[in-house]
Amino acid sequence: MSVRTFQRGVFLPHYKEFSESEPISTISLPPEVIIPLQQHIGAPNQALVAAGDKVKAGQKIGESGAFVSAPVHASVDGTVTAVEPRPTFTGASVECVVIAVDREQQEPQWPEQDHAALTKEEIKAAIKEAGIVGMGGAAFPTHVKLSPPSPIDTIVINACECEPFLTCDHRMMLERTSDLVEGAKLIARVVEAENIVFGVEINKPDAIEALEKRIAGENNISVVRLEVKYPQGSEKQLIKAALDREVPPGKLPLEVGVVVQNVATAVAVYEACRFNKPLIERVLTYTGDAAAKPGNLRVRLGTPISHVLKERGGIKGAPPAEDGEIPMPPHLVGKVIMGGPMTGWAQSHLNSPIVKGTSGILLFTPSMVAKTAHTDCVRCGKCVDHCPMFLYPNYIGLYAEKGSFDRAAEWGAMDCFECGICVYVCPANRPIVQFVRQTKREIAAARAAKAK
Ligand code: SF4
Ligand code: SF4
Repeated sequence: MSVRTFQRGVFLPHYKEFSESEPISTISLPPEVIIPLQQHIGAPNQALVAAGDKVKAGQKIGESGAFVSAPVHASVDGTVTAVEPRPTFTGASVECVVIAVDREQQEPQWPEQDHAALTKEEIKAAIKEAGIVGMGGAAFPTHVKLSPPSPIDTIVINACECEPFLTCDHRMMLERTSDLVEGAKLIARVVEAENIVFGVEINKPDAIEALEKRIAGENNISVVRLEVKYPQGSEKQLIKAALDREVPPGKLPLEVGVVVQNVATAVAVYEACRFNKPLIERVLTYTGDAAAKPGNLRVRLGTPISHVLKERGGIKGAPPAEDGEIPMPPHLVGKVIMGGPMTGWAQSHLNSPIVKGTSGILLFTPSMVAKTAHTDCVRCGKCVDHCPMFLYPNYIGLYAEKGSFDRAAEWGAMDCFECGICVYVCPANRPIVQFVRQTKREIAAARAAKAK
């Protein structure tokens, strides 16, 4: 069996052993959920509820009239206590619907329907109504991605899970194999794609076996084995590796007839079409060398990180939580990250809510975290050698650091997909991804000001 890959990238330690054997388990409901009205790329939602309103799990509570947007739903039965800005995982405050959770509620029931009988318009409408976005972290509305202006011949399911530590997609492939394949077929029907390809890294042989068993006898569905290399799961690198097609710089996969969706998104599509179930929960990986009890967890959206920590025993070696406060001794925990270790966001507090794009919560000991301050670029060229987008991260960093954001953009900051490889290989600890994010914010603000 051939194993495929892309040019450049890096080989990282996996650290998946903390949680890869842990079956998906469900976290209890917290006392309060905090649901950001904007969890997607696109137009912000307006709240459909106000303080004092009673809501039911699955009820739509935020919507926008724009096409590029995704509604949000109550993830629990409860009472709205506030609609107000709250800090989220990026550090920015976002308008949120805060719901006090009704302690007596039952697991919501969803009426089953024949998803195979839905037309492509009905599938797309169900996806939009369910508020589904790319759950690998990009959070782009899925119904928009499934409205390409040109023909699509192949759906690639990103089943790489190439970031170290994360294992939730792996568990979904093992435990939800059939739902995943059905979701992929629904996605293919929307865009009338003939082929479905699952791209899986070879460090998940049990997932490859489960998928191949499930698709045996199915026409035009295949599994492609991929080398274990980061960032194998980013769209352009995945398409190159799986299909040997090059997406031109600045262009999207649809230019080469491809749509990429990740595992969790495909399962959410199945649930939306089979059960009319909105996106009110997700599976994430809770892990890291400082986590007392790593696992793969089904969590209602809006659940604060602190509740997950409490449920899983907090920090390894720390005393138990008292009065709701989780001890975070600095000698035992150096960093909390929401997302993967390469692309996630460091958290300055534990109140950030889980959102649609949250693939992981990582707790690291101080020894796992580089604390050294960054220095000037030593011009070693390692970042250039490894950048999978063939950019010059050194120049992006140099110009952004000086506040020359236009020059940073000229060197490709807007094409950077923030994989974090340049930071990982840099001997000077240059925070290039932070420079890229700052450049993107500044350029977007300048464009918005110009458009007024
Ligand atoms: S410049 Fe961007 S795409 Fe290139 S290695 Fe750095 S983070 Fe990744
Ligand atoms: S890896 Fe770091 S030190 Fe080396 S060229 Fe890139 S930015 Fe400069």
